[in-house]
Amino acid sequence: MTNNDTPRIGYPTTPRTDFRIAHPEPQKTVSRIHPVFLPFAGCPGRCAFCNQNAVTGAGARPLEDILSELEVDLANDLDRGVPPRELGFFGGTFTALPTPWPQRFLELAERYREQGLITRVRCSTRPDATAPALLDELKALGLDLVELGIQSFHGPALDASQRGYDPATARAGCDNVLASGLELGVQLMPGLPGQDLDGFETDIIKTATLPLSCVRLYPCVVLRNTPLAETWEQGGYTPWELDETVSALADALLALWTKDIPVIRMGLPPEPGLENDILAGPRHPALGQLARSLALQRFLTPHIKALGAAPKRLLAPSRYRSDLLGHKHAQLPHYEALGLPLERMEFHDRGWFELS
Ligand code: SF4
Repeated sequence: MTNNDTPRIGYPTTPRTDFRIAHPEPQKTVSRIHPVFLPFAGCPGRCAFCNQNAVTGAGARPLEDILSELEVDLANDLDRGVPPRELGFFGGTFTALPTPWPQRFLELAERYREQGLITRVRCSTRPDATAPALLDELKALGLDLVELGIQSFHGPALDASQRGYDPATARAGCDNVLASGLELGVQLMPGLPGQDLDGFETDIIKTATLPLSCVRLYPCVVLRNTPLAETWEQGGYTPWELDETVSALADALLALWTKDIPVIRMGLPPEPGLENDILAGPRHPALGQLARSLALQRFLTPHIKALGAAPKRLLAPSRYRSDLLGHKHAQLPHYEALGLPLERMEFHDRGWFELS
């Protein structure tokens, strides 16, 4: 597949040339998150692809130490007058930490919420660790949002990744979080072993039916010291290529944006040393921008074609300039082929696109 192929996932594309065109991304404020990493804490086993030590840049440590360090960090932040932010517990299975650790972390967060430093608290966890009574308790203690590491709703992909639950459990986890009144986020991993492009499309279509606060998309890469690395070395797993991954992410963005769901991360965060631990798989320092640029190109193309002639001008929001032009201006040839060279693009500080 090339970057200019027709999108694989359907979404509204009714071209409009008679008035202003809004960017399809939900215009929601994304607040800064203070991350707290709990590598493997609470995890019932080891998923085939997972090396949290490499991904988070932190090794497994006693929870007591992590709590003490967080207490010092928050006190310092308060003293220094840093702006209010969210607190996020990542890298493990927060809701399966032994009692009373979730409670202790949340009680600390609540103390700093009362002082205005913390605005919201989120955690990542597994869909099979969402007992309603526990979610109710954690919500009462101040938890606001649960990001479920669903990874896939596809049974063979879950089995091959040694996730330890089935698609029904993945869906039930989402339902449990929503029934508790907590906000829900979903994390997916396109390109898991046992998953092809069709399987990821199905995952996105299912995800887009949920009332989500956010989605993160982590294309599967082969990390050192994982069971997946052994499978890959033995020829039993072939990661997705970068261009097909970018294409799939672009389609996913459009499908999720259409449902007013923000995608707040694509690809692993750039932890120091992580690159050395990635043995294979689709990675690029500007992966998110590659996908966003392609999504915008696929969104704008029907509008441009609907003019019936080469555009005289595209007026675009300045904040989308880099997405429009693409990484190292990679999207320009596509627009030039539609009769829209860089010279006919203008930028303004308003929020809409305008074609003439
Ligand atoms: S993917 Fe999540 S549940 Fe699996 S081992 Fe890693 S942190 Fe634990």
